[in-house]
Amino acid sequence: MSANSTYQALRAHLSFLRMGAAAEALPGMLEEATKATLSPSAFLERLLAVEVAAVEERRRATLARFASLPSPFTVADFDFDAQPSVDRKLIGELATLRFIEDATNVLFIGPPGVGKTMLAVGLARACIDAGYRTYYTTAADLAAKCHRAALEGRWATTMRFYANPRLLIIDEVGYLPLPAEGAAALFQVISQRYLKGSVVLTTNLGIASWGKVFGDDVMVAGAMLDRLLHRSVVVTIEGESYRMRSHRARAEAARKGVRP
Ligand code: ADP
Ligand code: MG
Repeated sequence: MSANSTYQALRAHLSFLRMGAAAEALPGMLEEATKATLSPSAFLERLLAVEVAAVEERRRATLARFASLPSPFTVADFDFDAQPSVDRKLIGELATLRFIEDATNVLFIGPPGVGKTMLAVGLARACIDAGYRTYYTTAADLAAKCHRAALEGRWATTMRFYANPRLLIIDEVGYLPLPAEGAAALFQVISQRYLKGSVVLTTNLGIASWGKVFGDDVMVAGAMLDRLLHRSVVVTIEGESYRMRSHRARAEAARKGVRP
């Protein structure tokens, strides 16, 4: 076989195997390999590494699209100095994702604006980067989806949908009181993930006031808290809203006629 026909056959193999990134990189890499007199195995390793990187990137992009995170934050974006009530070491430990291995839940509890969603999204991002299937929803969205599913006869499918991701983020529990049916949906989602898959949940309600989420159904609230807290890390965030604080700092600086 001539050099050219070998090259053509190689291109054809790569395209048959759907190794588009390797096919694209091939001419440049062959040239480099000749110049640098790479061994055949070193050349092959480099070529395959290009394809592996492309496939990994594609997988991550698919996971990220599916996860529907509301913002691009990572845990590293969190300003711990501005929020001394958050234990930096604990968040660092969570970011190693060991909690995913034993289906531990994480609860972020605190008033609006203190960074609960940001930290939840940061953990979700870490999960996606690690290749775990992750899904973000607010409690209100979850209730609405389940309501539609019940009407359209898709309840079981929808429950499987929420059971499936390795990590489920349920944001803003307690912001809006859930209708009884919504509370039941949330209860079922939490129950079926119990000891199987982690939930990261954020709420503005202290644990003692959880009955409110469930229209004061203390039994359901209690049963759900049992499952949530049995294996869990609770992060209570205190203090005032991050935006309010920076707003105040700017206002004060303006009053004093200095830049913040
Ligand atoms: P919550 O979910 O507790 O209501 P968010 O996570 O939505 O609060 O935070 C509100 C806004 O303030 C977001 O834009 C978030 O990025 C920012 N923010 C909050 N806390 C911090 C922090 N410690 N460091 C950096 N940004 C923060
Ligand atoms: Mg939030």
